[in-house]
Amino acid sequence: MTGTLCMPYRLRNSIQHYRWGSRGADAFIPRLLGFPAEPGQAYAELWIGTHPNAPSLVTRNGEHISLATLIASNPNEILGTDVTRRFNRQLPFLFKVLSAAEPLSIQAHPNKAQAQRLHARDPEHYPDANHKPEIALALDRLTALAGLKSAEDLHTTLLTYPEIGGFIGESSADPQDIFSALIRRSLTAPQKLSTVAQQLAERLERAPASRIEVEELFLALRLVYGDGDVGLLALFLLNLVHLEAGEGLYVPAGVPHAYLNGNIVECMANSDNVIRVGLTPKFKDAGALLEVLAPDAGPLPVLHPEPELPEMCYITPAEEFELRRLDLEAGAHLEMPCRTSVEVYLLIEGRVEVSWSDGMEHYVPGESFLIPACLPTWQVTALERTTLFKVSVPE
Ligand SMILES: [Zn+2]
Repeated sequence: MTGTLCMPYRLRNSIQHYRWGSRGADAFIPRLLGFPAEPGQAYAELWIGTHPNAPSLVTRNGEHISLATLIASNPNEILGTDVTRRFNRQLPFLFKVLSAAEPLSIQAHPNKAQAQRLHARDPEHYPDANHKPEIALALDRLTALAGLKSAEDLHTTLLTYPEIGGFIGESSADPQDIFSALIRRSLTAPQKLSTVAQQLAERLERAPASRIEVEELFLALRLVYGDGDVGLLALFLLNLVHLEAGEGLYVPAGVPHAYLNGNIVECMANSDNVIRVGLTPKFKDAGALLEVLAPDAGPLPVLHPEPELPEMCYITPAEEFELRRLDLEAGAHLEMPCRTSVEVYLLIEGRVEVSWSDGMEHYVPGESFLIPACLPTWQVTALERTTLFKVSVPE
């Protein structure tokens, strides 16, 4: 049966309709996949992978089965022997398209040891024992909070917003100490937190002409989450960035971050461990966030790809995934080199023909496919100018 097993697999992926997703004519995921958005429906994430909450499906012997099932029955053929051994017979990454019309919560992710502890203590909120390093790449633009501000920036911030500095009451100039003090104060003095947010809002509302972006965000978000959400003040301590298409962020463990607005591709270790601290109606766990806060929690640098032609590679320390972009001119033809482990491709723009020893398939935007480790060679031909993203597992 090996002959029929070792072929490209077209993936059927699930959409997550979280409330912060884009809607209507702005809905990016329906536009990418080429179907009309249902009125009022939010389209937040497309999941490509084996996560039990929404595993991708493949066709095997004429039947739709979960990609997780295909891998469980044939780990060495699909993942490759090395990945099978290193990652306990599991696909080590989850690949997503994410479209945020509203801010996602301010959050951080645990490292492996912290994830084991959190999962043992609170499996309802920390559903697995894995870490969750992640990379986000802007497809058009992305506004995000990417780690804490530098000590210099924070110093200026606290002078500009004495309400916040006064509430925090921290003498250390260390960004981690200042951020931790804010979170601790929000727990011990929740009433005071609301008062301070209200005072700051009143001051900012008196000066509409001179307001800057973070102040507008603060004013808009307090109407959504109320003055008692510590995320409103945390906004000012975090590093606000704007990414252009092709730029990325790599988020290691323990670094607070939030995607505020934009369309991205995202890749992460196969985990759902999110520690939320603010700007969310979901479960918040300030205590856990204080436990995992990294000693150097930002600011995160903007990541640019390195050319490894024909690919552009986003280099990160993650051992579970490596994200690459392929930009192909119409008519470009590539003989894909032999590899020893699994790869997943997502087409964002254009049209390609994928061919192998005994078959051929076409792919259009929003479609994705998996190349199993056991497929020796295959070819891709761009029928139009095409952009593909590829996730593989670093050796
Ligand atoms: Zn995250």
